Amino acid sequence: MIYDVVISGAGPAGAMAARVLAEAGIKVIAFDKAKLPWRKPCGGGVPEHVFSEGLLDYNEFKKNKIIDKDTKNLYLRAPSGKELVIETPGETVVDRKIFDQYLRDKATDAGAEIQDQTSVRDLIRNQDGFVSGVKIKGPGGIQEISSKILIVADGVGSKLVVKGGLRKKWLATDYAICAVALIEGYIEQPPLSDSMQIYIDENVAPNSYAWLFPMANNRANIGIGIWKKSEKRPMEFLIRLTEQPFFKKKLDETKFKIFWKSSYPIPIQGVKGRTYGDGIMGVGDAMGFVAPIIGEGIFSALLTGKLAAETAIKALEIGDYSKAVLKEYQKSWVKYGLKEGYNFQRMMRDGIVEGGNINESFNKLIDWALEDEYNKNLLGELFVSGTSLAGNIPPELIKKLGEELIPKLSSSK
Ligand SMILES: Cc1cc2nc3c(=O)[nH]c(=O)nc-3n(C[C@H](O)[C@H](O)[C@H](O)COP(=O)(O)OP(=O)(O)OC[C@H]3O[C@@H](n4cnc5c(N)ncnc54)[C@H](O)[C@@H]3O)c2cc1C
Repeated sequence: MIYDVVISGAGPAGAMAARVLAEAGIKVIAFDKAKLPWRKPCGGGVPEHVFSEGLLDYNEFKKNKIIDKDTKNLYLRAPSGKELVIETPGETVVDRKIFDQYLRDKATDAGAEIQDQTSVRDLIRNQDGFVSGVKIKGPGGIQEISSKILIVADGVGSKLVVKGGLRKKWLATDYAICAVALIEGYIEQPPLSDSMQIYIDENVAPNSYAWLFPMANNRANIGIGIWKKSEKRPMEFLIRLTEQPFFKKKLDETKFKIFWKSSYPIPIQGVKGRTYGDGIMGVGDAMGFVAPIIGEGIFSALLTGKLAAETAIKALEIGDYSKAVLKEYQKSWVKYGLKEGYNFQRMMRDGIVEGGNINESFNKLIDWALEDEYNKNLLGELFVSGTSLAGNIPPELIKKLGEELIPKLSSSK
């Protein structure tokens, strides 16, 4: 079987790429190893810039009941117990089982093929070294599928991007391990029930943060991250979160129940390697397109899926799938500002974590934000508008952060 484009993975990045290609009349298939629909372990926070940048249509999203809950604030809780509520453009909380299926339906409605329970095992190269297809294992056994272009969208555990020479294997410090759960019995009132809630505390989420994202009908998505600590049992940390006195107040003890839980890694060092080669491009988590402070990757997955598909369309038009042509994809996401944004976020994050005492650093950060409204809003931007800031970070903000905040944080060493 010959396809113009084969996509490995049908999460947000793969489904978006499939849709854009199919809309342009390209013969495209996406393989996913999961039995669909599956629920990717995730906080399910869809940032506002997914809609304002035109990647998805909010009204259609609403009409199709993909929205579980719209939030309007960011809530931060320091280890000291000090709290901050910042008005933000808001994030839309979704159930990934519903959200991802919606994205795949958009792709198949446009004419893409999606085949589940089929894992892409290896690349095939032609005599010139170009990627020219894949080996898959699905219900029909092992098969070879030919492609002109391969888009690798198979998430953080991608082996294909390594085999394709795009990046090296992750180092242990390149990703955080998260535990996530969907709960019932969440009973808070506004403004907290309308807030994306972030808690920093070394004892609950070592070198990372814990979250509660409210959902409709007294449900919520809760989770913790662990980074740079060889902790084998993230779920124990998540249970510890639910036992904290400040957290228990949010729950109706008689109704509180975890009805789904899972653990999963998330890349948090930004993009590593080159995102294109002869006949191949890498998108989404597979390449590390995740904002290093907050771990937001849905926006970048959708964006890079779209940009890679647009480059593939141009390459197919001229019949040239070489890296000389596919490098346009890399240029487009750099031009968009993702690289600059990730570097900036990494610098900020490392300022907090590498300060030596994350609890103390974060207490200072919250005190700094409580000093004035400008600082507070800036912190809101850093946390919830990370990637939209990319490329548009006003120089005076960088200066203010560099001169005022970073020295404060490093003085907690
Ligand atoms: C706990 C957690 C919480 C998060 N919370 C948020 C959040 O609130 N907001 C946010 O924006 N981001 C969040 N993220 C990040 C977000 O989940 C990812 O950035 C996003 O899902 C990336 O999309 P993707 O399509 O690149 O990869 P994925 O969503 O991981 O999709 C990859 C797909 O590829 C398939 N696959 C894997 N291997 C193969 C193979 N060999 N062959 C075929 N198919 C394969 C998988 O089954 C999967 O469907 C979170 C991540 C984690 C782990």
